[in-house]
Amino acid sequence: MKVLVIGGVAGGATFASQLRMLDDQAEIIVFEKDGTMSFANCGMPYYLGGFVEEKEQLIAATPESFQKDKSIEVRIRHEVISINRSKKTLTINDHIQNEMYEETYDKLVYSPGAVPIVPDIEHLDRGNCYSLRSFKDMLKLDEHISGRSYQSACLVGGGFIGLEMAENMKERGLDVHLVQRSGHVLNLLEPAFSEILEKELLQKGIDLHLNATVKRINEDKSLLLSDGSEIEADFLLLAVGIKPNKHLAETAGLKIGETGGVCVNEYMQTNDEDIYAIGDVIESIDYITSQPKRVPLAWVAHREAYIAARHMTGDSLPFKGILGTAICKVFDQTAAVVGHSASSLTEMKIPFETAELTARQHAGYYPGAAKLSLVIHFSHDDGKILGAQAVGEGADKRIDVISTAITGNLTVLDLQTLEIAYAPPYSAPKDPVNMLGYKAV
Ligand code: FAD
Repeated sequence: MKVLVIGGVAGGATFASQLRMLDDQAEIIVFEKDGTMSFANCGMPYYLGGFVEEKEQLIAATPESFQKDKSIEVRIRHEVISINRSKKTLTINDHIQNEMYEETYDKLVYSPGAVPIVPDIEHLDRGNCYSLRSFKDMLKLDEHISGRSYQSACLVGGGFIGLEMAENMKERGLDVHLVQRSGHVLNLLEPAFSEILEKELLQKGIDLHLNATVKRINEDKSLLLSDGSEIEADFLLLAVGIKPNKHLAETAGLKIGETGGVCVNEYMQTNDEDIYAIGDVIESIDYITSQPKRVPLAWVAHREAYIAARHMTGDSLPFKGILGTAICKVFDQTAAVVGHSASSLTEMKIPFETAELTARQHAGYYPGAAKLSLVIHFSHDDGKILGAQAVGEGADKRIDVISTAITGNLTVLDLQTLEIAYAPPYSAPKDPVNMLGYKAV
């Protein structure tokens, strides 16, 4: 079997490794258009902030190590420019030799990720604008921050990447403006939880501009915001979201779903059974509602890579869907979510009940006790858990426990019965997760 893979980072490289573990005979070739494969996208903000000292620490594998350790050929700087389904070939632009060629496949895996959305800003070309998606993006931004002696940054977008970059740019010694279109940062959170993050940002010296967008870059390079104010920043980081990088799939006639991602079945096959798609480019299904859903996160890409490799080797395992479990560090605060928020449930007209509490993450008398706010939404009829959010110390552990509970089909009342490890530095005899179960009665 000859398997070609488009994209050599989270989904593509993981798929290739998984396939090799399951099949030592398959010929596997990975095409990556950039010069770096298998790097930790998620670590890029922390390299820029100086928490990760060497850029090489972000690189998990190289074409040489893949060839030597796994007999997988990785062709970097090779961009796939079309998929010919009837001939079962790819056309590739080899940017090293500057030539085009074709390669045949028996099976194809499509994992080209996503592309950043560029916000509508007048005279964008006047500014120093960056996005953060590829390793190259990170190196360029890093070089320019040092080389051009940037002193200040305007982060456009208060989602996960905008928030992580706020901390990291501050750590780098820059003055930071964060401009967020809606009334709250990380607006998938309950408003009261976002407010905790906003307080933290302000305390740490971030200039927060809520209910505002960057309208124009003026001739003198100052920035006019939609609320009429003007701010100065040496560069803009555009972090307003991403969209699936689906143009090859569209041109090849692969089906695109209602959320804009490539449609796949539970084994990651597209409407062409010899073409699988995984990662940020696809539309999957919501574990809770079974509705179409797109979640561009690393766990999802890795799991989908495994499911595709299993199916390709004839040992199928269906993908159960996505919960959207996510977490973000904002200086000394942590925000974590799983499943649906009150507003998304309301929007979908799904009836729900809520239990909430504010507790300490561990025994109040043990040093370092800090506030942890938790909320959980569940179905009144059968106690099915529909979503939960946490902000504060220990948010990670509680959301992971609840994510596990949802995956195991436990009800909100079952949370009372979970035997959670306790000693004063870690929890309380009744953990906040147990407390949510008691409160939900
Ligand atoms: P990618 O990992 O982006 O890989 C796609 C690759 O395909 C790219 O290298 C691209 O160059 C290549 N490619 C595209 N088109 C072609 C072509 N035509 N020919 C050849 N190659 C092509 N997720 C989390 O869960 N937690 C986090 O903390 C987190 N932090 C993040 C921070 C940042 C700054 C970014 C950018 C992402 C973060 N993510 C995080 C998201 C996570 O990295 C993605 O969900 C994951 O990388 C998706 O994997 P993928 O294979 O779909 O895409």
